[in-house]
Amino acid sequence: MTYQVLARKWRPRDFASLVGQEHVVKALRHALAEQRLHHAYLFTGTRGVGKTTLARILAKCLNCETGITPDPCGKCSACTEIDAGRFMDLLEVDAATNTKVEEMRELLERAQYAPTHGRFKVYVIDEVHMLSNSAFNSMLKTLEEPPAHVKFILATTDPQKIPVTVLSRCLQFNLKQMPRAAIVARLEKILPEEKIAFDAEALALIARAAAGSMRDALSLLDQAIAHGEGRLNAVGVREMLGTVDETYLLRLLEAVAAGDGPTIAAIADEMQARSLAFGGALQDLASLLLRVTLAQTVPAALEQDIPERERIVALAHGLDPELVQLCYQIALQGREDLSLAPDEHAGFLMTLLRMLVFRPDGVAVSEKKQINKIEIQKKIAFDGDWPALVQHLPLSGGPKELARNSELRSHDNGVFDLVVQKAMGHLAGESYREKLQAVLTTHLGGPVKLRVSTGEVRGATASTLDAADRGARQEQATRAVKGDSFVQDLVNLFDGRVVDSTIREKQR
Ligand SMILES: [Zn+2]
Repeated sequence: MTYQVLARKWRPRDFASLVGQEHVVKALRHALAEQRLHHAYLFTGTRGVGKTTLARILAKCLNCETGITPDPCGKCSACTEIDAGRFMDLLEVDAATNTKVEEMRELLERAQYAPTHGRFKVYVIDEVHMLSNSAFNSMLKTLEEPPAHVKFILATTDPQKIPVTVLSRCLQFNLKQMPRAAIVARLEKILPEEKIAFDAEALALIARAAAGSMRDALSLLDQAIAHGEGRLNAVGVREMLGTVDETYLLRLLEAVAAGDGPTIAAIADEMQARSLAFGGALQDLASLLLRVTLAQTVPAALEQDIPERERIVALAHGLDPELVQLCYQIALQGREDLSLAPDEHAGFLMTLLRMLVFRPDGVAVSEKKQINKIEIQKKIAFDGDWPALVQHLPLSGGPKELARNSELRSHDNGVFDLVVQKAMGHLAGESYREKLQAVLTTHLGGPVKLRVSTGEVRGATASTLDAADRGARQEQATRAVKGDSFVQDLVNLFDGRVVDSTIREKQR
């Protein structure tokens, strides 16, 4: 017996087994029961949500030998032939591969003839937006005056590309993406029938990866069963999907909250050693940050039954809401930038370090704080050594003299108070102050407000330190010269003396 893929084997054959599209099913059932039939239907929705499946069920409802019904018998020749894909009066066209106008015209010409076997000739045109304009025009003629025995069922992922003249002649239904719970429920029904043991987490992982598509969920299930040699558990599914154990991400966020760079780097290394997918990890990290935000803002909306709930709530209490928002943005951006990074590990680590380095205004890291605060932070957390800072400022002229001759009396939160000697009061003028303030703002990477007053300079300035430094070096040079045995020999031989002022330290 050949193996039939699950997506095919478990394709819904009636409205009752089509999960997740209850709103559409309800409307169609009602129309069929009332025999209020439209001649053209348009099903829209993303891939894998059941558009063509729904089209086939509808074709059965219209052609079942028991009569037009919302509950086709599934046993008559029309029903079984439709299920087997060999019903003469069901014409399925994939517009993605049949866009030529001649083909469409030929197909539509046959619409004039009565159905050979069934009640209606049903045209299912998938990806209908791919038809050429002339093909649409050719179809429009039939849509305008459809023979009573013809039904059109159009399906598309992109209704925007369908001409409005066609749209206006169709009864439109928008199919929703499958909620994860609906996918899980369906898998839970299928697996016991297939006699395959599973754990709940494995199904949750598949449902998440399927991203709203039941077809993808069943294909992934097929792969997971093959991968797990007939069994289905979370470890195996994770391995197959290359997805990251949520505990890694929780540990990472906890390290971000604690400002703990070394732990972040260690976890990233660990993940690389296990060949985990970094793109998926950033996607999952963004989902985790969403849950943290939910826990902060709408706690009732946070799922009750997730195993990591307690740690998420703890993070929600420990992280500033603004920082969570910022980290979310950084995670999304990081994922986009991943292909540009030197390698995925580097891109991933840089993204996490960004979360560590950038903090919204006024948000401090808790406790461990200063660990690895990285150069950029140090530059903004100016350490108070004004003369040392002055050496690194790109200054000249008056502003330079102001910087070199002033003492830093205090600094707090970007407000710097400088004092210059009264004798140098000319340096305290507005234009020098403004220029120095601008240079400081650029150099420190944050807004600086500079106040300059005249008064007694009690502490060190760059200028006095320079002078003291020069003096010390001069003294050292003088000592070295006078202690030199060759110089001493000369002094003795010529009864001379060393003139101190002629000793110059060597230019460095
Ligand atoms: Zn039937």
